Amino acid sequence: MSEEQALASVTPTATTMTTEVNLAPGDANAAWAGTLRNLTAKARILAEKRSGLTLSGPLNVISLPNEREFQRYLNARLNQVVAVARPARSEIVILRPALFAESPADQEQTLTHEITHMLIAQHVQGPLPAWLEEGLCMIVAGQEGLGYSWRMTMAGSLGGTLPLGELERSLLYGGDLQALAYAQGLSLTRFYIRTTLEQYGRRGDSPATILQMLSDPDMGPRLLNQLLEPIWLAGFEARWRREHRSVWNWIAIVSGASVLWLVISFLFLLAYWRKRRMSRLKREAFEDDAEYYEEDGGDDDDITSA
Ligand SMILES: [Zn+2]
Repeated sequence: MSEEQALASVTPTATTMTTEVNLAPGDANAAWAGTLRNLTAKARILAEKRSGLTLSGPLNVISLPNEREFQRYLNARLNQVVAVARPARSEIVILRPALFAESPADQEQTLTHEITHMLIAQHVQGPLPAWLEEGLCMIVAGQEGLGYSWRMTMAGSLGGTLPLGELERSLLYGGDLQALAYAQGLSLTRFYIRTTLEQYGRRGDSPATILQMLSDPDMGPRLLNQLLEPIWLAGFEARWRREHRSVWNWIAIVSGASVLWLVISFLFLLAYWRKRRMSRLKREAFEDDAEYYEEDGGDDDDITSA
């Protein structure tokens, strides 16, 4: 009887602990298992706290020791990707050497970003545009370095922004275009959060508030439908451009030189690639198997993004 009592009191705790982060059997006994488990658990807490959403069920983590096995496991041709979230399986797939090569701060951001993809997939009832999904994951993960706003301001000043319609596609290309797509996606997402919250009389610019609205059974579908309306999107894009235009014009006048543009682009690229050298995505690789989310672009089970 005392044994039963002991079991009853122990079981729930044990369950809670194991569902928090489940490492794959091959990983669980490795020397770095504790580190990976703690890192993921911390990222989960961060993602849940900042998004205001709770991940239900287990969080499965599997890590692969090299790119070949990583690709084989995912059955996808992936280059320079650190981690991929597969919400349908509650799974994060990690290319171990790439993650372990990152700084602790970057590791935390990478995993928080991926877990946010899973939270969005669990709570938001429909696909978000890739720019918004990526932007939200970046904000929740704290991937908002100065480089991004710089890059955006410079592109705006020199007329180099991407049309919203091309943004989805540009998230897949490598190089400067992809870097710009992420920077612009982040800027558009911030603008979307602020203006939507204003419209509904909410305060602030918290990702948790917009995610709560997008997850709401009544308001969520309305917001999602609006995001698919070409006319609304065109107006949204025009308002976003209008708001930034005075700053962009001012900088264009002050700088007045395409040399500056080249220098800034080059510096940004250096920083971008240093940070993400292993995380470039190949969205095309997912076209046949659309259940993936990956580090550089979010997707849900129905839509191919990354
Ligand atoms: Zn992503």
